[in-house]
Amino acid sequence: SDSDYLQKKFNDHRMQTSAMLIFFSLLGIVTTFLDREIDPMNGPERIWARIAFMWIIVPAVALLRIDRYRLGMPVVLLTAAAAQIHELAVLRTLDDGIKQTVMAMLFYPLAIVLLTLGFSLFVSWSGIAFAAILPLTLGITGWLPEFPMHIYGAVIFPVSILMLLFSASFAWSYHRRYLLERALEEASNTDSLTGVSNRRYFEVLLRREVSRCIRTSHSCALLMLDIDHFKRVNDSFGHPTGDRAIQALAEVCSCNSRDADVVARLGGEEFAILLPEATGEGDALVVAERIRSEVQKLKILSEGGEEVRFTVSIGIADIGVDCQGRLDAATLGQRLINSADAALYKAKAAGRNRVVSQLDFAELHTD
Ligand code: GH3
Ligand code: MG
Ligand code: MG
Repeated sequence: SDSDYLQKKFNDHRMQTSAMLIFFSLLGIVTTFLDREIDPMNGPERIWARIAFMWIIVPAVALLRIDRYRLGMPVVLLTAAAAQIHELAVLRTLDDGIKQTVMAMLFYPLAIVLLTLGFSLFVSWSGIAFAAILPLTLGITGWLPEFPMHIYGAVIFPVSILMLLFSASFAWSYHRRYLLERALEEASNTDSLTGVSNRRYFEVLLRREVSRCIRTSHSCALLMLDIDHFKRVNDSFGHPTGDRAIQALAEVCSCNSRDADVVARLGGEEFAILLPEATGEGDALVVAERIRSEVQKLKILSEGGEEVRFTVSIGIADIGVDCQGRLDAATLGQRLINSADAALYKAKAAGRNRVVSQLDFAELHTD
């Protein structure tokens, strides 16, 4: 969404913007040498007003800790405006200071372009316009003495327009790169045959979910699914028909799970479904049974137009809340997979086309 995009843009540029602010702070201090050149009488006296530019380091350091766009944006814009006024306030106390440095004021819109790389184009453009108009306004009100309105006006407009174009071009290419990044990320997480998550992404999400369960003492459940006698489907109707069966199963799994659930193809005709906030006896069992019976009723068409039916076996495991404190996320995740796999194996051994949960399995063991 829009706000996710801006948040990422902000995060990507936060360090850079902070470094830029520190650089401008130093620049403000260093120009004390120019003050001496412009006005040998008053220049040297302005050194403390120049050293005072160190205040910019405060918002620069704060920015490293601010991770929200909505807070970072006003901090940067207010800092830039205050720094610009600070600079003009020093110059106006120098004899002829404004007149001699009016060309240096073209630097303000450029500074805004650099400082607002991490914000929306609207923010950049508003900032550039503000930075360009501020000296003019202060000149008109008489706060800046002997302000050479005509010279400033003649050069600030082409410069500002150039800066508007520059920031638009930057925003455009950043956005294109963002879309490309998203598409690549999506592709690297997706199984191309079925469109569900691939094994790699499933492992990432499983680890994340198991850690969350440990942190919050919640449960999650895992279903392992495998098509029964899939070799027969391939052998009788051909590999493309086998692929259709895999796609049909992925469809049934997706339709029967919630948004928060993760459906993944682990390889071949084997799938996994991760169900956050579910237990093996409760929701997971209901979902598994529904998928099993829907697959049983399913008819797909082979390449030759024949009706093909198949069934699926499902194993269920969950994270018991009781054993959580004693295991780390990696071990607990692996144990969850092993238990669901063992339950699936049991379902196959017990005749296929059935659901076996970890609990039944435990009961079988105690018999
Ligand atoms: P079981 O009931 O024990 O699971 O029997 P099965 O025949 O399904 O046994 P197994 O899981 O070992 O068979 C997997 C077969 O799936 C072997 C392989 O030819 C086939 N296969 C693996 N990947 C694909 C694929 O991407 N497309 C198709 N069409 N077939 C695949
Ligand atoms: Mg199989
Ligand atoms: Mg298999």
